[in-house]
This record gives sequence, structure tokens and C-alpha cells, in this order.
Amino acid sequence: MKITVLSGGVGGAKFLLGVKAFVGLDPFGGAGTDPVTGEAATPDVTAIVNNGDDIRLHGLQVCPDLDSCLYTLSGVADTVRGWGRLDETWTAAAELASYGAEAPWFSLGDKDIATHLVRTRMLDAGYPLSAVTAALGAKWQPGVTLLPMSDQRIETHVVVSDPAFEPGPGSTAGAPDVALHFQEWWTRYRAGIPAKRFVFVGAEEARPGAGVLEALATADLILVAPSNPVVSIGPILAVPGLREALLAAPARIVGVSPLIAGKPLRGHADACLAAIDVECSAQGVGRHYGARSEGGLLDGFLVAEGEDVQIPGVRVAEAPLLMMDPQATAAMVAACLELSR
Ligand code: GDP
Ligand code: CA
Repeated sequence: MKITVLSGGVGGAKFLLGVKAFVGLDPFGGAGTDPVTGEAATPDVTAIVNNGDDIRLHGLQVCPDLDSCLYTLSGVADTVRGWGRLDETWTAAAELASYGAEAPWFSLGDKDIATHLVRTRMLDAGYPLSAVTAALGAKWQPGVTLLPMSDQRIETHVVVSDPAFEPGPGSTAGAPDVALHFQEWWTRYRAGIPAKRFVFVGAEEARPGAGVLEALATADLILVAPSNPVVSIGPILAVPGLREALLAAPARIVGVSPLIAGKPLRGHADACLAAIDVECSAQGVGRHYGARSEGGLLDGFLVAEGEDVQIPGVRVAEAPLLMMDPQATAAMVAACLELSR
């Protein structure tokens, strides 16, 4: 069975651990045994990953969502901190801070920097991000084919009232709008400045990344991870041609709610949904995605137990949605498959 997943970073990666467990792969490694034949499992899980969070820092191309997937699925992520590498050290970050170097709010660990050095060198040599991601995967063996949504550079920017604005003496002028890089809004300001809108810079000229259209056309099941609908799944859907490919895909598309009882489990999805006038609830997210039969995204939507969700044209089912461990998450994947039948 071939499963293709639309994914952001940490939430998407946790969901992918469950997808791996569901298909008989070792969640934290590349290997596994087929539950039926007992032979080495052939992984057929592909993730189309948001790269709108990507940022150049200290000359290095950083891809937070791809790296969250890569590290988590390879068993080398720091799951307590929630991002970056396990057993990380921070020598370079401390030195950079002592220089007052750019973006002190975005820490890069020493091991992580090695990833960004290799990635940036390959990108600068002319390799597309998809090829670079495959090369990183060859070392780490995440057991899932990780595909950037696009090989072109797309950056999510957030339009806000300029937080640095100070009116001149006697002036009644309000703060002008400025666009912050998503990472600055999310990490530095912790999404605390109201977002007026999100702009996916570069998306209009972008194309789906290498392998993306094929992964949608050949999937037996397409899943939308419980990732942030606005800034993780939103940029993926903004790549021209991707929505059309989803609409045309022969497989059913089932999404999972990232909200339980109207709240995100971590992060600031509530602030993101408010910016696009979508109610912060499973029903709000489901209706925002919309029914595929009406040009939207979903055939099915999995929501938390006890939530009364109705989305015209979409089959809805309830299940425990807390991704406590890969096994619990695998049960969510099983419920998605059931919903697709
Ligand atoms: P990011 O790119 O690192 O911010 O991660 P994602 O966009 O992939 O995922 C973030 C979303 O995951 C948040 O909106 C959370 O509500 C959601 N999330 C995290 N843990 C869980 C969980 O256990 N269950 C569900 N249903 N959603 C979760
Ligand atoms: Ca992200």
C-alpha cells in the first residue's frame, strides 16, 4: 500500500511515525518487517513537506520542517525540546551570540549546523532541494521518502503592524504594515503580534517539487497530517498545480484535525486561524479545507472523540487523536483508512 502524506514539521513528523508503524516499519528507523510476510518491509510512505518555513541564517539554508521530519523519523530528534537534534551542543550558537550576529532568537545547534552546511553546499553547487533532501536521507534513513513541496524557494511572510514603530512627538500616525519572515513572527514574537495576513513569497512562480505529482497520482491513500492548516498545509496547497493534482488523484484524501476541543496541542495554530478568519475548531479547519467534491481538499476528516463536526460533502469520523506514541498514532492511521473505504 502506498501512502502519501501532506506534512509540516513536528506535528507532521509525529504523525509519520504512526504511518510507519501502521505499514510495519520501525517508526524510528529505516528498517522493519512486513507484518504479513515477515520479510523486510518495503517502505512506501512518501511525505510532501512544507518548505515555506525555510530561512537563510549565517549564509546557511535552514529547512525546519524537512529537518523535523528527517531527525524524528531517523530517531535522532530531541523530542523533549521539540525540535533539533538529540544530545545537541551549542558552541557555535554561543559564539555567534557573542558577536551579536543575526537572529539571536533562532538557535542552531552544532550537529544541526552540519546538516545545514551540507545542504547549503549542495544547493550552491546547483542541486535542487529534492536531490539534497534525498542525499541527507541516504545518511539518516528516515524510512519515508521526504519530498519538499517545491524545489523553488518559497518563504512564508507574515504581515503585521510594525512592532518597532514609535510615533514621532505629537504624531497620531499608526504603525505601518511590515512583512516579517514567518520564523521571526513565530519564534521571536511567539505569534504574539496579530497577523494581518500570510504571504507565500515565490509561490506563484513555483512548481511542485520533483516526485510530488507522481506521489499523488500513484498513492493508494493520501493523508493530510494534523499539521498547522495555515502555515504548514497552506503553503503546500499554494504551489500552483498541487491542488489540481490533489483533485485529480485517484486515491481518497483523508485529513486529521490538529485541534482537540478547539485547541492546538502545541504551537500557535489559533493565532494563524484567526488571521484568516477561520474558527479555531475541528469544524472550522474541516470546512476551511472543504470537500473535494466541491473543489476542496477532503473526502474524509478524522476528529477527536465527542466533537460534533459536520462538513458538507465530507465523511467525518471520531477517534482518539492524541499522538502519544507511534502505536496510538498508527490507530489514527487505521481510522483514516477505514474512513476512506
Ligand atoms: P510545525 O511545522 O513544527 O509547527 O508542525 P506541524 O505544522 O506539522 O504541526 C503542528 C500542529 O500539530 C499543531 O497545530 C498541533 O495542534 C498539532 N499536534 C501536535 N501534537 C498533536 C497530537 O498529539 N494530536 C493532534 N491531533 N494534533 C497534534
Ligand atoms: Ca513548520
